[in-house]
Amino acid sequence: NGLKKYFPIKSGLLSRTVGHVKAVDDISFSIKRGETFGLVGESGSGKSTVGRTILRLTDKTAGEVKFGGVDLYDLQPDELRRLRPKMQLIFQDPYSSLNPRVRIGDAIGEALLDHGLASPTEVRGRVLDVLNACGLSSYHFDRFPHEFSGGQRQRVGIARALVLNPDLIIADEPVSALDVSIQAQIINLFRGMQEKQGLTYLFISHDLSVVEHLCSHIGVMYLGTMMETGPRDELFRDPLHPYTKALLSAVPVPIPKLKRERIVLNGELPNPADPPPGCKFHTRCPFAVARCREEVPLFRDVGNDRKVACHLV
Ligand code: SF4
Ligand code: MG
Repeated sequence: NGLKKYFPIKSGLLSRTVGHVKAVDDISFSIKRGETFGLVGESGSGKSTVGRTILRLTDKTAGEVKFGGVDLYDLQPDELRRLRPKMQLIFQDPYSSLNPRVRIGDAIGEALLDHGLASPTEVRGRVLDVLNACGLSSYHFDRFPHEFSGGQRQRVGIARALVLNPDLIIADEPVSALDVSIQAQIINLFRGMQEKQGLTYLFISHDLSVVEHLCSHIGVMYLGTMMETGPRDELFRDPLHPYTKALLSAVPVPIPKLKRERIVLNGELPNPADPPPGCKFHTRCPFAVARCREEVPLFRDVGNDRKVACHLV
């Protein structure tokens, strides 16, 4: 609620703060239990920072992050530590966070022991169960990270998160580094896990076609601001915000008569350190009017569980 994350821009020998990058600039959204919320936007839109700020991996500048009614920013370090297993982050490439000299089974079991969620004698069984659930086997338990393919590594990343029996998984571009055929397998794994365990996902991706297959709700970010949120089907059928329309017009559709008119955006993504005044999207919006350059559009409820920030809607 009203989440902000500003990064200072330092300059000169004395590292004076000369401005801020408003990576997350006053955004609000909610995810219901068991829902899959897809957060989309171009790279640099602030999606990853939203995920990391929710998990308190980086501090917020302002706003609230409520998890089951508790503001995570009100928790003391020991309370937060106890809640940590319930909220897990999955990265684009889990390889970068795996110790190359630790066997995969031990790497997955480590978190269980760290959080006191299993005794040393139980760990192996628990890890084997989760490896199996993720389409790996006991064969993989004693292997090292470099012996895994990209798709297998992502299965390891998912296994490492799942072994802690989380409620919420924040997955940041989890399939972006994978071949398309492997992407489908991993997306199916995410979906299967959700059905089995009642997981809640915040699924971050620059790729709308990936989000479409998995997510029940979608949020569209641009330059640190939420432009539109709503249920997937409505948002795909009838996008309201010009930026959402432009993103969707670039997604290939299987049925030619549903083909949308291609909306090509003007220019490049503006510098996030110096975003345009008024509606941040006005420099690229094909529908911009004078008011858009001066007045920031409110993020308004427009009914049917949908919200949008545009003067023309
Ligand atoms: Fe485009 Fe104006 Fe709407 Fe912004 S407020 S999206 S510039 S029409
Ligand atoms: Mg990112």
